[in-house]
Amino acid sequence: MQMRLERVWPNNPKRHHDQPRNTVSQLPTKQAQSALPQYPAHTQEVGITLQRGGVCPIMEKGVTVERALELALHNPLSRQTETLLLEASRGRILGKQLSSKVDDPRFDNSAMDGFAVIASDSVNIGAELTIVGTSQTGGALPPGITTGEACRIMTGAPLPEGADAIVMIEETEVNGDQVIINGPARTGYIRKRAENLSIGQEALPTGTLLSSASIALAGTMGHGEIEVIKKPRIAILSTGDELVQPGTELEAGQIYESNSHALASLVESMGCEAVRHESANDSMDELRTTLDSLSDCDAILTSGGVSMGEWDIVRKIMEEEGDISFWRIKLRPGGPPLFGTWNGTPLFGLPGNPVSSLVVFHVLVAPWIAKSLAYHPEMGPRLSQKVSVKLEENVSGAPGKVCLRRIRIRSENGQLLATTHTHQGSGNMHSMVAHNGLTLLPPDTDGKAGEVIDALWLQ
Ligand code: AMP
Ligand code: MG
Repeated sequence: MQMRLERVWPNNPKRHHDQPRNTVSQLPTKQAQSALPQYPAHTQEVGITLQRGGVCPIMEKGVTVERALELALHNPLSRQTETLLLEASRGRILGKQLSSKVDDPRFDNSAMDGFAVIASDSVNIGAELTIVGTSQTGGALPPGITTGEACRIMTGAPLPEGADAIVMIEETEVNGDQVIINGPARTGYIRKRAENLSIGQEALPTGTLLSSASIALAGTMGHGEIEVIKKPRIAILSTGDELVQPGTELEAGQIYESNSHALASLVESMGCEAVRHESANDSMDELRTTLDSLSDCDAILTSGGVSMGEWDIVRKIMEEEGDISFWRIKLRPGGPPLFGTWNGTPLFGLPGNPVSSLVVFHVLVAPWIAKSLAYHPEMGPRLSQKVSVKLEENVSGAPGKVCLRRIRIRSENGQLLATTHTHQGSGNMHSMVAHNGLTLLPPDTDGKAGEVIDALWLQ
């Protein structure tokens, strides 16, 4: 892979470089707190230059998405856990794997209401057996049976000693203390001890999203309290003089601000707490003050102001006063993002174009959160799934960049088919709603109708 390395900080010492910078032996507090996973400190042999105040990394420009993720993971989110009551843990992510405290089932029991019998006694239809007692759920242990005997049994009640089959109640007839067997006695109606889980068996891995089923399983295994990942606080800041909150009157040149709402929702879906700040104007002073006030969060996501223009002040302030590890990625839409730190807090500078900010979240920020917090790849929270889709029309790729065309994916006859419905401008938020997927067309590659390509299916 070819990448251009560029020195971003000439001679002016940076405001935030008064403290010694990260080195292998001096991890920042946030990184040091992270129990999992451990990533190398933010240094590269070719990318280190001595500055006043410490060692500065070198910004990489125009990187692949994979490289961008690798660089961002040099500054992962801090991973901490907390213990919650089972009933408060829905939607949270398991911080430590859970093993069963019991066998499941705890004892051999019946899957049916009926009679527990000895199978060889009940081979003939019309066989008569003597009822010796009842096995009830939660009751005292039932009496055992010997040949010629049967015991009433409820679904889930323990199997009496000596019984090896169950006859369904519908296939029996009671006559005083006798039962007439009119149907088959089945061993398959017995649920065997530990046939689901054995004591000590791990059933919920670290990083599992606690859905209704996984919460129920945690309960089945005897866990009343659960260690979950503490929600990192992620600040969200839109920038732009033109932005106004929806619901207010617009003046000339103003538009409604939408990115912070989308980003907040994505952040929450990834198991984090969104700290939405009102949008900042394109002023260095305002941005500096706001970023300072947000740097006690675990990460900051900004939107807007990261392109080449004079007013792209997120890029400017990060270049002059923060630390940038990369700027621009080989992606369309979504080319201009940057990543770095502000006061040691990881910061993604996302593009302002609404579609671009969302897709960069999907392909870069979401995997960064998931990897930082050691989410389980299949059972953890995720916003998208990589799938193969068959194109129903031609779609054009992008020179030198992975192309994320919006597509609508549907399943037909066991195959996923993809079509496009609206125009693909990066400012067209309607296109993100009219579609439910993104192509992953490799650089310089068009997609032809009938071809099967990789895509992200957005959940
Ligand atoms: P920028 O990246 O700041 O140059 O913004 C690119 C485009 O996205 C401009 O048309 C902005 O008006 C628009 N934009 C930037 N931020 C937002 C936002 N938070 N919500 C909606 N549109 C935005
Ligand atoms: Mg702007």
